[in-house]
Amino acid sequence: DTPAEKYEYQAEVSRLMDLIVNSLYSNKEVFLRELVSNASDALDKLRFLSVTDPNLLKDGGDLDIRIQSDKDNGIITITDSGIGMTRQELVDCLGTIAQSGTAKFLKALKESKDSGADSSLIGQFGVGFYSAFLVSDRVVVSTRSPKSDKQYVWEGEANSSTYTIREETEPEKFLPRGTCLTLYLKRDDKGFAHPERIEKLVKNYSQFVSFPIYTWQEKGYTKEVEVDEDLADAKTDGQDGQTEKKKKTKKVVEKYWDWELTNETQPIWLRNPKDVTTEEYNEFYKKTFNEYLEPLASSHFTTEGEVEFRSILYVPSMAPMGKDEMVNLKTKNIRLYVKRVFISDDFDGELFPRYLSFIKGVVDSNDLPLNVSREILQESRIVRIMRKRLVRKAFDMILGISMSENRDDYEKFWENFGKHLKLGCIEDRENHKRLAPLLRFFSSQSDQEMISLDEYLENMKPDQKDIYYIAADSVTSAMNTPFLERLLEKDLEVLFLVDPIDEVAIQNLKSYKDKNFVDISKEDLDVGDKNEEKEKEMKQEFGQTCDWIKKRLGDKVASVQISNRLSTSPCVLVSGKFGWSANMERLMKAQTV
Ligand code: ADP
Ligand code: MG
Repeated sequence: DTPAEKYEYQAEVSRLMDLIVNSLYSNKEVFLRELVSNASDALDKLRFLSVTDPNLLKDGGDLDIRIQSDKDNGIITITDSGIGMTRQELVDCLGTIAQSGTAKFLKALKESKDSGADSSLIGQFGVGFYSAFLVSDRVVVSTRSPKSDKQYVWEGEANSSTYTIREETEPEKFLPRGTCLTLYLKRDDKGFAHPERIEKLVKNYSQFVSFPIYTWQEKGYTKEVEVDEDLADAKTDGQDGQTEKKKKTKKVVEKYWDWELTNETQPIWLRNPKDVTTEEYNEFYKKTFNEYLEPLASSHFTTEGEVEFRSILYVPSMAPMGKDEMVNLKTKNIRLYVKRVFISDDFDGELFPRYLSFIKGVVDSNDLPLNVSREILQESRIVRIMRKRLVRKAFDMILGISMSENRDDYEKFWENFGKHLKLGCIEDRENHKRLAPLLRFFSSQSDQEMISLDEYLENMKPDQKDIYYIAADSVTSAMNTPFLERLLEKDLEVLFLVDPIDEVAIQNLKSYKDKNFVDISKEDLDVGDKNEEKEKEMKQEFGQTCDWIKKRLGDKVASVQISNRLSTSPCVLVSGKFGWSANMERLMKAQTV
């Protein structure tokens, strides 16, 4: 017998534990969701690894989660037959956390104070295990990895900066494989150990876990037992005067305890879309991605033919917190399954281009090999076809939002993810046709509400050939630019590109439905009212003035010309046809400083 060894938590963990134990009081029940989700992850890992190494399952093939609760003593045990942890993994996983985890969690807590999210956010930051201390004084983790021939016990207490690890020695606690967590509940939280409460929480939180979850429940069945009833006082048979005994039956309830399957294990994406309600899709989304807001849109589809897969995709209603990570490649937003086996949620643009990395969902393929690796994913023709279809479906979904009766929906989408689509215009030439109709801009005729390019086209003058735009740093400064004068006078609409990325996006698109985008700040803008006679006259009259101004300004300008583009201002500085616009110059300057 080796004695228990004492370890100090990493400082980050101590801070987190302190917070969990001493200041989170609402939504404590999320601990069960987090621990079940860890059990499910551990089973996923085992199932995945066993594809290439079937030996891992030699100690019994059942992959499940069992939750037992003892309400009298306030104890809950959660057992999974998953991948378990080695001694070193116990130290690495349950004593340290990624540096940023706590900081981000704290920040999110602060930001969401008013929305009532609190403890329920915990799982998003890779610190879910510690939620056990929301309700427990003491937590014991007994675990056995198939890589190790020994089972180890991790033990930690609330309000302690150390934990211990020892070898498991009690034979009745030996596991063939996997992990058993024992929670000794705080006095005020013992109510969580009621079997009915556990059942309710599992049904509510873990409905979409794809392994069976059994809970230990008291059951009863009624049986009929025969009772002898002495009928001596009853009327007797007059003839022989004997007492008559009559058999009678009585119903009694026999109580016993047994495991009960508590969740539904058929994955929602395998069901017929006709039979799934919007509420179910939304619930699945919230449970799977730890979201507390409903998605803006969802799409459930099956593709057949060349490549077969099923998928449910979602558009979130909000960009993730911490907007600085606007286009984050590694989002864990897409969960890939092969024949129902979870493979990975760690993608790097293989299934969606990075500008669509905000899309969340599950994809289940029957055509990929179960032992698919990152390299295979990157090379695979099947994945390329899948990607194409997924992207198309994502666009359909976004288009759906844009056509919704409720204009607010798309405004919300645009506010959160508009930048992503503009980035798409720059990075994904192939999908320009799908991207362009989704763009929104303010314009000289709509400075309060954004319009689409289609709305712009509808509003074009019969002889108008181009789509006009001006880049500026705000709607107000766009409104006041002298470039606008003649166009306003002629009632021509001009798009206002007020987001720095807008202009680059538009220049990448070049045209929309055969109309070119034209920057009204560039020289020789033709708004369709050229009068050659008059121009010649003007040139003659003012030619010398121009020469004189050019001489005075020297290298500061490329040329000084007569033009018909102004109506009230005497002159304007324009950009050369092939040069950068003033706005681009501003941007470039901002970048090089
Ligand atoms: P996350 O699940 O986001 O990684 P957690 O704090 O919930 O963060 O868990 C930390 C780590 O502890 C997990 O990544 C996993 O490696 C390990 N772990 C937790 N519970 C189990 C379990 N039941 N079986 C195996 N490993 C586990
Ligand atoms: Mg977890």
